[in-house]
Amino acid sequence: MKTILVTGGAGFIGSHLCKKLLQSGNKVICLDNMSTGSYDNIASMLPNPNFKFYNANIVDALQFDANEIYNLACPASPTQYQQDPIMTLRTCFLGALNVLELAKNLGARVLQASTSEIYGDPLIHPQFEDYNGNVDITGPRACYDEGKRIAETLFFDYKRKYGVDICVVRIFNTYGPNMLINDGRVIPNFIAQALQDKDITVYGSGLQTRSFCYIDDLVSGLITAMGKNNFSGPINLGNPYEMTILDLANLIIKLINSNSNIIHMKLPMNDPAHRKPDIEKARAVLGWRPYTSIEEGIEKTIKYFKEKYKF
Ligand code: NAD
Ligand code: UDP
Repeated sequence: MKTILVTGGAGFIGSHLCKKLLQSGNKVICLDNMSTGSYDNIASMLPNPNFKFYNANIVDALQFDANEIYNLACPASPTQYQQDPIMTLRTCFLGALNVLELAKNLGARVLQASTSEIYGDPLIHPQFEDYNGNVDITGPRACYDEGKRIAETLFFDYKRKYGVDICVVRIFNTYGPNMLINDGRVIPNFIAQALQDKDITVYGSGLQTRSFCYIDDLVSGLITAMGKNNFSGPINLGNPYEMTILDLANLIIKLINSNSNIIHMKLPMNDPAHRKPDIEKARAVLGWRPYTSIEEGIEKTIKYFKEKYKF
């Protein structure tokens, strides 16, 4: 039985990961400051004696005993991470420093939840791991993009200097149950709007693209990457099926049979025009690929929001 620390374990991805790790017979320590996490996400795990929850901030020194560490603590929605950009930067840098110090002292393997945002507004398509990206260093998204980039640098320096067993995974847009309805990301926004027959807020023309990965696929990728000892990455995890935001809006309207209209609003500054992962490395090294179609994943997510919020 392993003991596994999951930072950000009460958030969207973290709560699914904790559940899966518990089901596989591990002890799970969940650390979260609840800034974008929710008690609902971990309520079913709290009575489990193999699950321990700590309400703490990752920027403070960490003292835990663990064999493995997943570092997920960080707001992921542009609305959320731009609310307090300095805190986002502190979380990315000091959080990474603290988990790496802990991993070094414990001899634990440590996985960093990096992001497709390190590619910024990419100039090559699809994005593969050797691409160094196109990030606006001083723009409003930089607190997250640059925060995640410095965290990757720190991970590789801890590997080089101290031999820490690291793994950096670059997660592309992931969605599913346990996202907050007011999270601000596109899928919760559109589903909440469509379920209430409210206007669907497409930012800009809606011709920008994203590639959406269902949560179960992503979690299996994270666990597979962690299980690959001495594999450091960086490695992309995501679903290469690419679509426009307008197509996403129309799909959600259709699946809900909603009377919503699409309206166009201002495109946020630095919003990436296109994003699609090249997952050849994940296929070759991890034998991983996503299986859930966008229709199936969106159906499951709609069901979750309907049941939870009684629309
Ligand atoms: P989320 O906002 O739902 O979860 C993040 C969790 O971290 C929350 O529970 C929050 O309370 C916690 N947290 C934030 N700052 C903290 C701090 N200083 N100390 C302790 N806890 C803190 O986001 P998510 O979608 O679950 O993302 C999880 C991780 O995956 C993040 O690191 C994010 O950057 C990364 N990621 C997510 C996506 C995606 O599409 N969901 C894409 C790329 C990368
Ligand atoms: N978006 C939108 N309407 C919304 C929320 C987001 O059109 O209500 C767009 C956003 O401009 C971006 C895409 O959907 O082009 C994905 O946004 P999200 O915030 O989910 O994630 P991002 O990939 O930008 O980090």
